[in-house]
Amino acid sequence: MTVALMTGATGQDGSYLAERLLAEGAEVHAVVRDDTTGEEPLAEGAVAHSGDLRDADGLRHLVESIRPDLVVNLGGISSVATSWAQPELTALVTGASVATLLDACWRLHDEGAAVRFVQASSSEIFGHAAESPQTEDTPLRPVSPYGAAKAYAHHLVGVYRMRGLHASSAILYNHESLRRPETFVTRKITRAAARISLGLQDTLELGALDAERDWGWAPDYVDAIARIAGADHPGDYIVATGTTHSVRDFVEAAFRAAGIDDWEGRVRTDPRFVRPVETPRMCGDASRIRRDLGWEPTTGFDQMVRAMVEHDLRIAEREIAARR
Ligand code: GDP
Repeated sequence: MTVALMTGATGQDGSYLAERLLAEGAEVHAVVRDDTTGEEPLAEGAVAHSGDLRDADGLRHLVESIRPDLVVNLGGISSVATSWAQPELTALVTGASVATLLDACWRLHDEGAAVRFVQASSSEIFGHAAESPQTEDTPLRPVSPYGAAKAYAHHLVGVYRMRGLHASSAILYNHESLRRPETFVTRKITRAAARISLGLQDTLELGALDAERDWGWAPDYVDAIARIAGADHPGDYIVATGTTHSVRDFVEAAFRAAGIDDWEGRVRTDPRFVRPVETPRMCGDASRIRRDLGWEPTTGFDQMVRAMVEHDLRIAEREIAARR
């Protein structure tokens, strides 16, 4: 039986991954902060361990005592927007904690244990990318505190892999779902489109509408992580759809799905949501994971936007019912 240790188990990806690993019969341990701001409840059957990615001794102790076969690092500051507000915290929990986890795994490996490590890396490591679409060989050029912390972690995974650890990076492009928090633009848009269509809200304030992202469906990306964890050889894998849309496209699709055609009158630009440095366009080439691990996305852009809007329409209807 696989014994897995996860960070970020109460986030979007972590909650899907914990459910999946438990369904596969794994014993799942999760590092959970006492004052967690995780959006999702910890999956039933997972064992919670009180801990914090800033507490290196605590993390080491957990790895030593649980002796996992698999460590999946999904924790940390997950949003670019938040990383601008908290750059030091981002360096610690998104960057430095990965050194602790890798070193703790290395010690188990050194004692003869067959431990694997999977890092949730990010398209943000490419920042102002040298080429499009990006591949596993595209140079790293981060342009945000989040991207820089993820780039450090990404390099370190490569360092430990060279040392002999089964350590892999899933280079995840933006991925969304019904569990996406509103700190991300997609959920902010689908919530607003639903609420505006039911008269609960008048306008939506956004930052850059021209930015383009390669948006995928989070459960597909969790499937990619599971495949990478199970692969014979460790490596870096881009996880992306290869198709980009602008924030404007997303707004249009979401408002249309909510029954609103004239979205332009409803959306305002607010400088508060404009980034100090923007990543203008992201597009990933996932050929390696498709070829080597048979991964394929199941859900396209329009289907994803519709599912999110429909979910948010139900939530908005409940909000109205609760007011009566
Ligand atoms: P990111 O790509 O990891 O930063 O994911 P986000 O969902 O936070 O942002 C995606 C894109 O939407 C970025 O280019 C943002 O600048 C842009 N954007 C425009 N308005 C907003 C907003 O109100 N909130 C967020 N989070 N992003 C916005």
